[in-house]
Amino acid sequence: MNLAILGATGSIGSSTLDVVARHPDRYRVFALTAHRSADALLALCRTHHPRYAVLSGLAEDAGLRASFAAHGTQLLFGMRPLEHVVRDAGCEAVMAAIVGAAGLASTLAAVRAGKRVLLANKEAMVMAGPVVMRAAREARACLLPVDSEHNAVFQCLSDAAAVRRILLTASGGPFRAAPLESLVSVTPAQAVSHPNWVMGRKISVDSATMMNKGLEVIEARWLFDVPAKAIEVVIHPQSVVHSLVEYVDGSVIAQLSNPDMRVPIAHALAHPERIASGARPLDLAAMKNLSFEAPDERRFPCLPLAYAALEAGGTAPALLNAANEVAVEAFLAGRLPFTGIAQVIADTLDAVPSRALEDLDGILAADEQARRAAGERVMAVAA
Ligand code: NAD
Ligand code: MG
Repeated sequence: MNLAILGATGSIGSSTLDVVARHPDRYRVFALTAHRSADALLALCRTHHPRYAVLSGLAEDAGLRASFAAHGTQLLFGMRPLEHVVRDAGCEAVMAAIVGAAGLASTLAAVRAGKRVLLANKEAMVMAGPVVMRAAREARACLLPVDSEHNAVFQCLSDAAAVRRILLTASGGPFRAAPLESLVSVTPAQAVSHPNWVMGRKISVDSATMMNKGLEVIEARWLFDVPAKAIEVVIHPQSVVHSLVEYVDGSVIAQLSNPDMRVPIAHALAHPERIASGARPLDLAAMKNLSFEAPDERRFPCLPLAYAALEAGGTAPALLNAANEVAVEAFLAGRLPFTGIAQVIADTLDAVPSRALEDLDGILAADEQARRAAGERVMAVAA
């Protein structure tokens, strides 16, 4: 299978390449993309020899083009080529692993082109869930969840009509047990050091605020077509049970593995078959304890904000996502305290009205409006 990996230099991108390299008989790397990390992308091309590489955040550069050509790879520049490579007839499957709203257009292009789409870019589903799902039906794209929770739910779903609840597990992040009054002064370095997973900086902060789980509730709403009230979040600090599905008869089916993204990636790559992922086998007897607890909304105010945006409907989830991206960036740059993230998002949702969800242009306009409003809030909080 010919695979394009969007966001190849990131955490999901490198885990994907790790799995792919274990199965050279099954997968060929068709295209690799990065935003600006030319050296890292070139190193990947040296190993995997894709037909195309894309640097979406850089302008034309003849010298760079020549160094990629030396490995048989045609280098393209800017955002548009992301859509061109996923639509290419030679591309069969797309790993959508760009972080944030920046991944929406290319994810949607892959879906509209009817490709097999491995979805890591949850923000695309949060912003445009109904649009993406409709496009997938119309183009007969095969959309496979890579987010570990959604991949788990997908694996546990047998009879969708008989589902009572979907239970998404959350690790609780690095501040699950920290004194509430200490949260205002946590540093970016503390927020990105996740207890169980090594991930990109943005999703690591989202895990610390639990906005990540809020985004995942919205993602699950659209992926599995279940109402928000049937999606619950439970904290499970060990990150071994990746999510659960409860049926009307009281049966609860869970998927377990060591916390390693290569497990859901291998599942999405090979489904309906199964392939080795490289993950360490689970040793239940060596595990002391698997525990569960309800999330505390005072500690994690981003979670109720996400449910509220889902309830409000229309462009509200896109507004929530944009405000979160602005707030997280400001926090990582030292311009906003950790506790300011939820505040900026709440204020943005109050300031910007949500509209009916129509098409991509409307969603992108909402995204832009929320970014402006959130930027102003960041300045006000910082002042
Ligand atoms: P990352 O920051 O490690 O990598 C992001 C990748 O996207 C890089 O290749 C980067 O070059 C590219 N990129 C960044 N900004 C871009 C832009 N504006 N335009 C085009 N490309 C851009 O992120 P990650 O942790 O690999 O996460 C990727 C996606 O997968 C996110 O949506 C995240 O929520 C989701 N996800 C990640 C994990 C995980 O374990 N890391 C788990 C579940 C879901
Ligand atoms: Mg997840």
